Amino acid sequence: MKILKFGGTSVGSAKSIQCILNILQKRYSSGEKFIVVSSAMSGVTNLLTEMAFAASERKDFKSGLTEIENKHFSVAKELLEIKNQNPVLTQIKLYMNELEELLQGVNSLKELSLQSKDLILSYGEKCSTYLLSQISKQYFPESTYVDSSSLIKTNNQFGNAKVNIEKTEYLIKNYYETHSDKIFYVTGFIASNEENRITTLGRGGSDYTAAIFGAALEAEQIELWSDVDGMLTTDPKIVKKAFSLSELSYTEAMELSYFGAKVIYPPAMIPAFRKNIPILLLNTFNPDFKGTLIHKENIEKNPFPIKGISSINEISLVNVTGSGMIGEVGFSGRLFSLLAREQINVILITQSSSEHSITFAIEPNDIERAKNLITREFEMELQTHKINIPSIEENLCIIAIVGENMKQTPGISGKLFHVLGRNGINVHAIAQGSSEYNISVIIKKKNLAKALNTVHDTFFIELTKTLHVFVLGTGNIGATLFQQIQNQSNFLKENNDIEVKIVGISNSRKMLIQENGIDLIEWKAALNEGNQANMENFIQQMKIMNLSNCVFIDNTASPDPTKFYKSIFESNISIVTCNKIANSSSYKEYKILKDTARKRGVDFFYETNVGAGLPIIKTLKDLMNSGDRILKIEAILSGTISYIFNNFKGDVSFYEVVKKAQELGFTEPDPRDDLSGKDFMRKMMILARDAGYTTEEHEVLLENILSKNCIKANSVDDFYNELQKSESYFTEIKLKAEKEKKAIRYIGKLEKGKVSITLELVEASHPFYNLSGSDNIISFTTERYKYNPLVIKGPGAGAEVTAAGVFADLINVGTE
Ligand code: ADP
Ligand code: ASP
Ligand code: MG
Repeated sequence: MKILKFGGTSVGSAKSIQCILNILQKRYSSGEKFIVVSSAMSGVTNLLTEMAFAASERKDFKSGLTEIENKHFSVAKELLEIKNQNPVLTQIKLYMNELEELLQGVNSLKELSLQSKDLILSYGEKCSTYLLSQISKQYFPESTYVDSSSLIKTNNQFGNAKVNIEKTEYLIKNYYETHSDKIFYVTGFIASNEENRITTLGRGGSDYTAAIFGAALEAEQIELWSDVDGMLTTDPKIVKKAFSLSELSYTEAMELSYFGAKVIYPPAMIPAFRKNIPILLLNTFNPDFKGTLIHKENIEKNPFPIKGISSINEISLVNVTGSGMIGEVGFSGRLFSLLAREQINVILITQSSSEHSITFAIEPNDIERAKNLITREFEMELQTHKINIPSIEENLCIIAIVGENMKQTPGISGKLFHVLGRNGINVHAIAQGSSEYNISVIIKKKNLAKALNTVHDTFFIELTKTLHVFVLGTGNIGATLFQQIQNQSNFLKENNDIEVKIVGISNSRKMLIQENGIDLIEWKAALNEGNQANMENFIQQMKIMNLSNCVFIDNTASPDPTKFYKSIFESNISIVTCNKIANSSSYKEYKILKDTARKRGVDFFYETNVGAGLPIIKTLKDLMNSGDRILKIEAILSGTISYIFNNFKGDVSFYEVVKKAQELGFTEPDPRDDLSGKDFMRKMMILARDAGYTTEEHEVLLENILSKNCIKANSVDDFYNELQKSESYFTEIKLKAEKEKKAIRYIGKLEKGKVSITLELVEASHPFYNLSGSDNIISFTTERYKYNPLVIKGPGAGAEVTAAGVFADLINVGTE
């Protein structure tokens, strides 16, 4: 025989009850014996609670009555044949009248005891179960309604009554034996005390009813039918990537459900465990799902270090401190028995090495009461300043990681704290696990979703890690980056388990934010439909959304975004950028950004600041981190100037080469922006700083290629005129180079901490002699690469390679 318990959503509507009937039909026709346990229709217990409180405050409760009546009537009318409707509607009406009378009483007395509340709540299960039994009767004539309150006996702890197992089992067995020809439809949740007054088993208690029946009748299996595919790794409403677990041990299920995985009510495990009856969690709306099996020992090997993550969405912390507690035997005993006596549920007690303070978590609703009780109980101690008035921290939540594997695997808690820290989530307290299968932390409520998602990504590493990306700038580089991400997305998912979700895009005109990710095929059109751009607002929204693995990409060349970098790091968001402005302004700013990123444990990647996608910054970093020392850096890092000198040969004039370069798009609209060497200087400064120097702009020796008049010229046309006038200067250099069989190169150098950029003639043996086209080249002479420098060479400009460099940085976020 099996117990099938259907939760609130399963009995929530005519449509869902039809799903139940289909499930039962199969069992019935295969001759299987079963008992059905039912919850109240979804939302009804909550509604009854509200109505009871409303009545006690003389507020309206009648509209609630109508709502409950309608809910049941509409199901009855839809699923009962006309001829069967009347008696059922009459019975429900009778229940409603009783309920109204009770509420009226509460209303007159202006008082709601836990006892009256239980009685009021019991109508939820009575109505739903009675209705379900009558509908089922049409298909299975043996169906009979069973009010469990006469069979489950409890103490007087209304609201959360403790079951008298022996008596209950006797009554259930006896009743079952005397009605063995029937199919039971049993009310969940409700019971009664010795005086036959209705009690309830705690919220979610129908699961417990099912387990109590299962244990009493030694059922083969207890099935809990809900609206999800069993127990998932975490709450699927918060973490989209949560997945179903195929099995759990009783202890694991207990730990997970105790800390909020409400798919099963924790006490339900006890009777099942006692009689070793497996519990199967199933989905009414997906009967093909094979279920999560909860049993004594896991059979399959869990490939992950933990089983699941659960959370309690809202708790408050009470902190009792005082010197008088030190060495005071029995203080905590007094405190916690007081709370237990007054039915204040202590969710957890946190670890504290000193005896100076005790911190515990309770539900926010209990705060006022707890505070009053403690101040009353410890009045003496308070007056003599042995203890202080309890302090309260609110708006907190708990997340707990659970699993039997944790015991054997070292480093789990380290990993948990690391990932929380990296995401800027402050841990207020660490909870004393009730077993070794659980580590719980208390964090701010606003960080719950972010914490669950990051912790889930961390421990279920085979799952895809999602990067949430906000991109500023949709010019050449931005647009190319989107295309590259789009083309590569499947590969990344399959081979690297990385999903790149572009959540926000902004340029100087428009901005668009979509939490579920912007479709990169249609981004242009979508952005056009977006809001008017506002950089501050864009960044603010990114911070407020508080997404896990969040990355800000600055694909602009503007100084404006750099003002926000520091605060972005402070929100624990990584930055990837091709914008060199931040790193090449004052050394102080560079240092602040680097330090802030490091302190926050986030990444600041700017490979494309120097030589586009060439691995220059990364190589320098690796050399430095591995303890090498930079003796000299020589580099040609201006593709434009490179092109110009590579083509300044034979009969052509310097003027013609520059003009041609501009026509080919190798220069900025004003070629002086390149020829001034300023951009090159910025790159050299960044290299020098990354090599450990505090270089400032005024310390750089920058040799001008252009004459003063060229630089001063008011327009680009004037500039070209002046350039023609200084042709003889360039011809002279060219002739000298040709005569000495050398090449003209504009070379940046870092030597002994000094940065210079000068025009030089290099011999054929020099590694820079053979540079062609617009290539960049850099050579590192170091302690280890002393006689034969490490050289990197290749295209150092262009949207394709720059976007690729940004992309590579993005993928590396969080991996170091
Ligand atoms: P029922 O009414 O059937 O008893 P509940 O509402 O009590 O069902 O429990 C099911 C709900 O539990 C799901 O809808 C889901 O949102 C929530 N839940 C929280 N954590 C988990 C988890 N780890 N696995 C499955 N469901 C979870
Ligand atoms: N109806 C009760 C509740 O909502 C019991 C249950 O659903 O398990 O708490
Ligand atoms: Mg439930």
